[in-house]
Amino acid sequence: MKKDIKNLTLRELEGFFASLNEKKYRAKEVFNAIYKERKESFLTITTLSKELRETLDNIFYITIFKEISRKTSKDDATKFVFELSDKRLIESVLIKNTNKIGRTWFTACLSTQVGCPLGCQFCATGKMGIIRNLETGEIVEQFLRLERENPISNIVFMGLGEPLLNYENVKKAIQILTDENGRNLGKRHITISTSGITPMIYKLADEIQSVKLAVSLHSAIQIKRDSLMPGLKNYPLNKLKEALVYYNKKTGNTVTLEYLLIDGINDSRSDAEALVKFSRDLRFVKVNLIHYNEIPINNFKPSSKEIEFQKFLLTNGLRATLRLSKGTDVSAACGQLATNSKENIQFKI
Ligand code: SAH
Ligand code: SF4
Repeated sequence: MKKDIKNLTLRELEGFFASLNEKKYRAKEVFNAIYKERKESFLTITTLSKELRETLDNIFYITIFKEISRKTSKDDATKFVFELSDKRLIESVLIKNTNKIGRTWFTACLSTQVGCPLGCQFCATGKMGIIRNLETGEIVEQFLRLERENPISNIVFMGLGEPLLNYENVKKAIQILTDENGRNLGKRHITISTSGITPMIYKLADEIQSVKLAVSLHSAIQIKRDSLMPGLKNYPLNKLKEALVYYNKKTGNTVTLEYLLIDGINDSRSDAEALVKFSRDLRFVKVNLIHYNEIPINNFKPSSKEIEFQKFLLTNGLRATLRLSKGTDVSAACGQLATNSKENIQFKI
């Protein structure tokens, strides 16, 4: 059976050419053709001999997703639904950012799994359950497809799924997209968002040091977190804290703690106090308070105390920002991503 060439890192491709008794630099030529020139057929890679092009074409294919739909929100987030080769659907979002002085740049929000096994109560993806992990090439292809629209400088792994439960493929996709012989994206411009799979945070610290880390905390009170994020019960807050200390020591990176503010659920004074207690001795964290986007599977509402909550954190010495999520009017915002292949629940938002 043919294989997707976008599953291969440069080193793996070099190994493949070596096995054919071909020169290693052929791999760089292929990387250049696919990731810089954006060739979509081996037969058009004219730096290779006709024979070699045909060999590649017999062994590999180049994944090209079918676009099912796209919708752009009023605030410039475009949600794409792509169909995978097994007919599963995933979503990827292209976000246009503009800073105070009018500079604009684009961020790709990528999926890492079809669904997610962790079942967080506030998250549409969590309600889908897990169907399967995405392959490396399927992660890479999302980026390339979004970049057909605009040059992209940043990636956030905040789409469908838990990136650290598909660690090897996420790692390879990062290696491919940051390879200087290909797309050469800056590693510092990539953020992995995890719900807190602690053993994998250690691995990340040891292996992919330059990407940024965001941790979805949402409550610093253990029983509350267990109820909001039932899939994380095996990774308690004290162990998460130890993992973050290790991560910071090893990488020197700061860590963002993401905290959704849900009305009457995790936005009280004692919730804020618990968050201060959790974060106070972690001098390398900053808290990102996230506006809750409503989804039709629970009765959660956005908190009415966003500013008050932020003020409490600031006066208690934490760094805390308030993020207004983009794309809510097309369900492209975080936590609203869910696909609707036949087996999945359909969300009419
Ligand atoms: N599984 C990873 C990455 C995907 S979720 C994680 O949990 O971090 C990306 C972000 O969207 C997380 O911070 C998540 O908590 C947030 N999110 C989930 N549901 C949301 C909702 N309804 N409104 C706003 N953000 C939400
Ligand atoms: Fe999975 Fe993240 Fe959604 Fe939780 S918030 S269900 S970990 S995608």
